[in-house]
Amino acid sequence: MMHQVEELVSRAMDVQVNAYAPYTKFMVGAAVLTKPGSIYIGCNVQGADNDDTHAEEAALCAMVAAGERHPILVVAVGALEGCAPTIIPPCGKCRQKLMEWSSLNKYDIEILLSTGIAQLSDLLPNSFGPADIGIDLAQHST
Ligand SMILES: [Zn+2]
Repeated sequence: MMHQVEELVSRAMDVQVNAYAPYTKFMVGAAVLTKPGSIYIGCNVQGADNDDTHAEEAALCAMVAAGERHPILVVAVGALEGCAPTIIPPCGKCRQKLMEWSSLNKYDIEILLSTGIAQLSDLLPNSFGPADIGIDLAQHST
């Protein structure tokens, strides 16, 4: 697991420089490790419409586009443009996006924080989920 964490941090650092953040200048890179051992990366992409895509969301979209649905560990790194990135916690929106996959797969997702690995359920307790809108994802899990 340790070498996978280092690999994820490295991949997140690599993609962080590609972020498009002309409005906040805060550039974020993320990497997602899946159960089969694949790594998907993403960076934040902002727009004048203020409907920004966050790095974790971009990485999750890349995972889904590749046909995978089992994220197990997520790392995000960020910094103001030109500064050295550090590990950052996922924002509330991204915690909710990650919780979708925890709900689908019925397992917790690990998040790397600067203090170590945390469980998504601890970072987003009492979360809103599919059951709250009367949806059972059982038929969608594989
Ligand atoms: Zn976010």
